[in-house]
Amino acid sequence: MKWSQTHLYTLKEAPSDAEIPSHKLLVRAGLVKKIGPGLYTYGNLALRALRKFENIIREELDSRGCTEVLMPMVQPRELWEETNRWSEMGAGLLKFKNRNDHWFCLGATHEEVITDYARSDIKSYRDLPKNLYQIQTKYRDEVRPRFGLMRGREFIMKDAYSFDVDQAGALKAYESMYQAYKNIFTRLGVDFRIVKADAGNIGGSQTHEFQLLAEAGEDHLLVSDQTDFAANIEICPAIDPEPPAQLNVQAQPVEKFATPGLKTITDLSKKFSISEKELVKTLFFSANEGLDSKDKSLKAFAVLLRGSDEVNPVKLKNLLGMVNPPLMLTEEEVREVSGASPGSCGPVGLKIPVYVDHGVASLKNFICGANEDGFHLKNVNMGRDFQATKIADLRMARAGDKCPESNGRLKSFRGIEVGHVFYLGTKYSQKMNAQYLTKEGQLTPIEMGCYGIGVSRTIQACIEQNHDADGIVWPAPIAPFDVHVCLLDTGDRRALELIQQLGAQLKAQCYEMFVDDREERPGVKFKDADLLGFPVRVVLGKKGLDNNELEVVERRGKAVHKVKAEQLSAQVISVLQKLRQGFA
Ligand code: ATP
Ligand code: MG
Repeated sequence: MKWSQTHLYTLKEAPSDAEIPSHKLLVRAGLVKKIGPGLYTYGNLALRALRKFENIIREELDSRGCTEVLMPMVQPRELWEETNRWSEMGAGLLKFKNRNDHWFCLGATHEEVITDYARSDIKSYRDLPKNLYQIQTKYRDEVRPRFGLMRGREFIMKDAYSFDVDQAGALKAYESMYQAYKNIFTRLGVDFRIVKADAGNIGGSQTHEFQLLAEAGEDHLLVSDQTDFAANIEICPAIDPEPPAQLNVQAQPVEKFATPGLKTITDLSKKFSISEKELVKTLFFSANEGLDSKDKSLKAFAVLLRGSDEVNPVKLKNLLGMVNPPLMLTEEEVREVSGASPGSCGPVGLKIPVYVDHGVASLKNFICGANEDGFHLKNVNMGRDFQATKIADLRMARAGDKCPESNGRLKSFRGIEVGHVFYLGTKYSQKMNAQYLTKEGQLTPIEMGCYGIGVSRTIQACIEQNHDADGIVWPAPIAPFDVHVCLLDTGDRRALELIQQLGAQLKAQCYEMFVDDREERPGVKFKDADLLGFPVRVVLGKKGLDNNELEVVERRGKAVHKVKAEQLSAQVISVLQKLRQGFA
């Protein structure tokens, strides 16, 4: 392809809303163009990277017996009512009416549609197992679309769904998809981790996320330094490396003391020279589902943590069996349930459930708020001064905590979630009556799993992990083109001939060539070649051609190979093959 014929415009400056390197590079390299929040046009280069990645996915899934289909983007309300997700999904689901006054939504995910598809055809155990997938545009009305394709409103997803006769079958399908995903991301040549994760509101129990490691990642991962234990912080068990000794100290009488103006744990810790670990903070949440329209009376509860710990809302959600993580109470609501403002609250005298983190359960004679503005209590003891509704693991785990599966310690990483596998069980098939007849003639709900890959997000995540100060450094398997020719003198017949020969040789090996044939200065062409980041650059200029010494430059590491014109194709192909092997 020739630059002069394509639609490609690079930019010197990134737009002001681009915060992370990959977003800046995506826009500067002309890969995408924003038309509204979370909405992008993919240029030809982005589309090529997407198609290459999609084909890697197809190869891995098809070879495991999965079947590709394509479902509608516009979906009738009735299907979503069957699973109750028309309301449960909240505002993320974009809903609208058509001319006949019928409600529809844009597909945010396709469990309902696929289950409907399966139930209409799958009648007997002989029809199972099945694994159907599609690569399609999704729409989620994300609250804060950001970071370009990382969190778009419209984005491309590969979603697959497995159907099996029983749990053993479904777990086998899960294992197979897990392996397929492992292959897919290994083939990309990216640094990724597979972590245990929360099932979110898709439901189900067993679930793993595939996370590309990158500083700009939104997800926080904790990984063992001894075993292959790895978890999203959302669900990672928090285990103190040195659990506090159960001190056999005598419970002292409770004392109230004045703490005017001391509102935070840090204020208290500084003023009284007590470590934050020894202080107790009380947080207030609502157990009402945001979507719950029937019952609006406030169902407040309190959570006690050590002052140095952070609460983990996903652990609260799972403890209370909620659909979404609970929201914190407003200042007025806190006053309503405790009688004081948030900085002066504690568990003593509360009339609402009190959930206590393990870290607090081991404390004796501790300090907490008195439920009276400007006052705290000292020598508070659980059991004597207040009752715990439940003691549980409620804090965020952190680097340095003990690994839940070994004597190792946890290390912390940032990640970008690019894939997710779920075992669903019969959550959808039961609600939607997707049943089959067993060998014994019994009607039984189909066992399901669902498996997503953020296709457009992955493309950007690859750039986030593979770039340098000059631009993108594409992983070879998804590079939009393999070779970038900088044609410095567009009228030089020798160069045009070489390009023809090189193009033919590359085509024979299934490599693709991009020629910068614009009337631009060499400096501009080199800068753009670095920015676009295709794996190999060939420089064809008058000096090199006169001296019969041409340059083949590897984008990653910038190694320069000097070759004679006769060896050009062979040299380029040998570098490309080396790169391809690196990713095999
Ligand atoms: P997240 O926690 O990032 O919102 P999710 O858990 O909602 O993701 P799934 O419903 O499992 O995501 O979707 C499957 C995959 O689709 C995710 O692993 C992710 O790679 C991708 N994805 C989800 N939401 C977006 C989005 N708004 N923009 C781009 N990709 C997305
Ligand atoms: Mg999401």
